[in-house]
Amino acid sequence: MRTSEVLPGITRLWFPGVDNNAYRLEGAEATLIDCGPPAKGNGPVLPPDHVRGVRTIAITHHHADHTGRLAATAAATEATVFGHAGDAGIIREGTPRPRGRSSSLFGKVLLAMGGKPVPIDAAPIHVEVGDDEELPGGLRALHTPGHTAGHTAYLWPEHGGVLFVGDAAANMFRHLGIAPINEDEPAARTSFARLAELPFTTACFGHGSPIRGSAASRFRRALERTEFLLHYQPQISLRTGQVVGAEALLRWRRGDIAVVPPGDPEGPKLVWFTGAVTSSGDFDAKTLAFEPHDQVRSGIASNICDMFVTGLKARHDAR
Ligand SMILES: [Zn+2]
Repeated sequence: MRTSEVLPGITRLWFPGVDNNAYRLEGAEATLIDCGPPAKGNGPVLPPDHVRGVRTIAITHHHADHTGRLAATAAATEATVFGHAGDAGIIREGTPRPRGRSSSLFGKVLLAMGGKPVPIDAAPIHVEVGDDEELPGGLRALHTPGHTAGHTAYLWPEHGGVLFVGDAAANMFRHLGIAPINEDEPAARTSFARLAELPFTTACFGHGSPIRGSAASRFRRALERTEFLLHYQPQISLRTGQVVGAEALLRWRRGDIAVVPPGDPEGPKLVWFTGAVTSSGDFDAKTLAFEPHDQVRSGIASNICDMFVTGLKARHDAR
């Protein structure tokens, strides 16, 4: 494990073996965010300097690389451990962590390399924290499901806002986006869009390097690159009652003010697109064109939160 200072009072604890991070904050109370992967054999918990005086441990999610040393660290510090109810049961039982799915090649490779999930030590969650609740020390919990059902990010108001993202996003290989593996990828995208709206200047990730300065605008730019989603709506034959296909709804999410319903004359219209339906059922959009084109490029369209473009009839087998 190696350590570095992100900002005064924020230490990054980096575990190179699995390239992930935990953090120690020196606030009104010393706080740990996550505890790193399981130690090898009966190896030490986190080094004494990093657990000394810790009163609060905030857990982002149940995955072993974030909670592997939680049981030992909680015992060593007698800190209060906070986590969301959606992940608390798995952490308390120490059962093998369920693995997510991925629609990306990188995620599929990671899943293939990951091997069989193994149980890790059962660990406490003393307080089940809900969305928008404040923890001792001033962290604000943000329920951001998708990577796991109970995933929670934490916003610290110091230094202009520091967002502890957990795995609600990753900043790896110079790419900022949702994590490559998720239990519920559409929910992960919605959570990412929510985070992009928050006031913060620094982002600290479960995986990848921190972003210092203008981090929120980096999130918003990343969102603009990934704002098109495809959802399927089954089509059922009234005669036979059988599912005969699916209608593809291309959803344009901008994550800000309003929803523009289909056919709204004020909304930009998708006039053509190219792309392909992937084997996982997602739509991999290559190009999309809108009319009037300059509306989309100007600030007008930035007031649009959602646009559903219906009528893209995909002959896609019902899954
Ligand atoms: Zn994870």
